Amino acid sequence: MSSVFSKIVSGEIPCYKIAENENYLAFFDINPIAKGHTLVIPKHEIDYVFDMDDDLYSGLWVFAKKVALAIEKVVPCTKIGVAVIGLEVAHAHIHLVPINGIYDIDFSKDKLKLTSDEFLELATRVSAEVQL
Ligand code: AMP
Repeated sequence: MSSVFSKIVSGEIPCYKIAENENYLAFFDINPIAKGHTLVIPKHEIDYVFDMDDDLYSGLWVFAKKVALAIEKVVPCTKIGVAVIGLEVAHAHIHLVPINGIYDIDFSKDKLKLTSDEFLELATRVSAEVQL
């Protein structure tokens, strides 16, 4: 069975898209721990990041860097924090989280509730800043 992220790639499930190219896709986390919390995935479904071949793996990080630079242009923050967890969705992904302190990247805290309009408005502004 395909992962929920493969369903996003195929368009079966919607997302708030930030950027994509042939191999990678970035979209907002639906249960963000911070405004601008973004997931970056390879379109090819593979569970564990460290099982990716070197080219696909390094390309994922280069793509994530471009997305991170766009997020920080829009969301006021000290830095973009990065996490790889993968315990919930078995499809490799990088979390990009705007942070001002370590408390901003605590995945156990209550998730933000954003309206669809808020997600869309932020996605439009961030995606406009992405330079692939
Ligand atoms: P983890 O696998 O532990 O790194 O967490 C998976 C992340 O994917 C969580 O932060 C979820 O909120 C997020 N997530 C799960 N389903 C969706 C979805 N349909 N769209 C966007 N984000 C999702």
